[in-house]
Amino acid sequence: MDRICLVGAGFSGAVIARELAEAGFRCLVIDERRHPAGNCHTERDPETGVMVHRYGPHIFHTGDARVWDYVNRFGEMVPYVNRVKTTVRGRVYSMPINLHTINQFFGMAMRPAEARAFIAGKARSDITEPRNFEEQALAFVGEELYRAFFYGYTKKQWGMEPRELPASILKRLPLRFTYDDNYFNHPWQAMPREGYSAIVARILDHPGIELRLGCSWEDLDEAFAHVFYSGPLDRWFGHALGRLGYRTLDFEPIRDRGSYLGTAVMNFGDEEIPWTRISEHKHFAPWEEAGIEGTICFREYSRACGPDDIPYYPIRLAEEKAMLARYVERARAETGVTFVGRLGTYAYLDMDVTIGRALETADVAIPLLRAGKAPPVFVHPPL
Ligand code: UDP
Repeated sequence: MDRICLVGAGFSGAVIARELAEAGFRCLVIDERRHPAGNCHTERDPETGVMVHRYGPHIFHTGDARVWDYVNRFGEMVPYVNRVKTTVRGRVYSMPINLHTINQFFGMAMRPAEARAFIAGKARSDITEPRNFEEQALAFVGEELYRAFFYGYTKKQWGMEPRELPASILKRLPLRFTYDDNYFNHPWQAMPREGYSAIVARILDHPGIELRLGCSWEDLDEAFAHVFYSGPLDRWFGHALGRLGYRTLDFEPIRDRGSYLGTAVMNFGDEEIPWTRISEHKHFAPWEEAGIEGTICFREYSRACGPDDIPYYPIRLAEEKAMLARYVERARAETGVTFVGRLGTYAYLDMDVTIGRALETADVAIPLLRAGKAPPVFVHPPL
């Protein structure tokens, strides 16, 4: 039996490879980078010893028991609650918007029911079906909180007016009328004790899996029984129909001693401040802090992704979706390949969703491959 190739050693490629290998298939996993784990990659900063999230902060959170059990098989997950702060007009507030944020912002001391009524009075009740991010925000919290906490940040993050963006982006954030400042609602929230790369390396550590780093799909000249491709969908077709739009990130390091920020993540809501947030990575591993004297932070800047940049966030506006539809149509005519993951399906996926989808992809593919049939081009269609 020919081997199966997995392009990309991030969570998608690694999880599918592991499931296939455990089902008796032989797999080759390739990645053009020199490390596994894709954009979740973590490595120790040689100067300080801090475990750095090389491609920006990744905090694991999930409500999916299968995914939670799965990651726990491959490394110790240490409970971790993401508590984000945001600086707006020279003051620091708690994010996501909660009772503390509301009371600080309006200089009040309301209890939950009072704050709920107060915000209901500010929210735009005439917007019943928000058509975009701005309308969603106005219907959610009203003009003042929208301008302070969402407008500038979102404009910097996405490079366009929030009214041009889909409402779904804002739906990622909760609004709470209690002092609960946990950024996420999921029951399981944690950080890997030894970093994400150690988890992915362990997922890939199976006698049925060969890992080849520093190797691009375009460099391979081998036949495979099937390919699971987690690279950019448009790249598979040599960008023949144009380039799907992404936002990329630039990281500017800041070195200091002790603690520079006093917390793991500080957002910056003001449009005039060019970075969106600063993250201080030692605070993502609080259990290590006592032994680490130096500190390293990163200012994060978002911009349009050029041909040589790393794609992070798919833009998915009308123009991109039209191009995506043409790529999907073209992809449906392919045989021997399944497109997976954030880049392969052009989707804004969190880590847990990526792992869940990879497991589902393997569930669908394994019986078909056993029967000598081809798995579908998309298990999770991008549109
Ligand atoms: N957002 C915002 N202000 C903030 C944090 C988030 O306006 O202080 C908006 C912004 O548009 C962002 C979206 O909410 O893209 C989702 O935020 P999340 O923290 O989920 O983004 P991620 O961590 O994936 O970059």
